[in-house]
Amino acid sequence: MSDGRALARAYLEQQRLLGTDAVMVPAPGDSNVPLPEPPGVRPGSGETAAPSSGEIHPTPSVSRGKPGIESGLTYDPPAQDLFSSDPVQRATTLAEIADLVAGCTKCRLCEARTNTVPGEGAERARLVVIGEGPGKTEDQTGRPFVGKAGELLTKILSAIGLAREQVFICNIVKCRPPENRTPLYDEIASCVPYLFRQIELIGPSVILAMGNTAAQTLLNTKQSLGALRNKVHRFRGVPVIVTYHPAALLRNPNWKKPTWDDVRIAHRLIDG
Ligand code: URA
Ligand code: SF4
Repeated sequence: MSDGRALARAYLEQQRLLGTDAVMVPAPGDSNVPLPEPPGVRPGSGETAAPSSGEIHPTPSVSRGKPGIESGLTYDPPAQDLFSSDPVQRATTLAEIADLVAGCTKCRLCEARTNTVPGEGAERARLVVIGEGPGKTEDQTGRPFVGKAGELLTKILSAIGLAREQVFICNIVKCRPPENRTPLYDEIASCVPYLFRQIELIGPSVILAMGNTAAQTLLNTKQSLGALRNKVHRFRGVPVIVTYHPAALLRNPNWKKPTWDDVRIAHRLIDG
């Protein structure tokens, strides 16, 4: 199969997983079935088309028609090289990352913490769920999402048939900000290498970013949650779905329905 046909096949398969218009995906070798080329592929060339006018075009929509979901932003921060002396990059297990976090004093959030909260869950989780930062209960226990917002998250996950232990649950910053304030830009910048390495080690098939801080950090954007929802973004190639933070749902139950829609999209993308 040519590269173009392989791309087209992957594209159609992705459409099928997203539950958009029914499509037939011919098997390899089924060469008499005409295949449309996916967006960004020059018909017949098997190559990615360069933008004709020299401008950068937004990534084209993944789907057309009914319950469509567009592709969104892509963030691809460079990974450190293999021979880096940085212990975070050299860590090969989640436990090693947790140890490094436990001794971390890279930002002021270390000063008032009781415990670090590195995150917890399966080493090979297909879904990584990311919040903002530990709250009071999390700071006291060293575990993510164990307070009221955590109870709601556990319910949301069980609604799509996932136990907490099957996913990896963590936060953008690993120490509690005083009074649960939003983490500051420099605190986030100091802390994200841990998260990025965690994601790298887990290699999930989907990331669920809950709330503005998680979404904006992971996609390196200032766009609002409202603008980021309902799209499949990519972080280092991994699909990212953006939704409301469970703490926000506790304040505004009207957001439960849209959150449910988002979580279902994430669920459909698992292993997709
Ligand atoms: N809110 C978060 O963002 N993370 C937690 O771990 C708990 C509450
Ligand atoms: Fe280190 Fe992150 Fe805690 Fe800051 S928030 S001290 S960078 S672990």
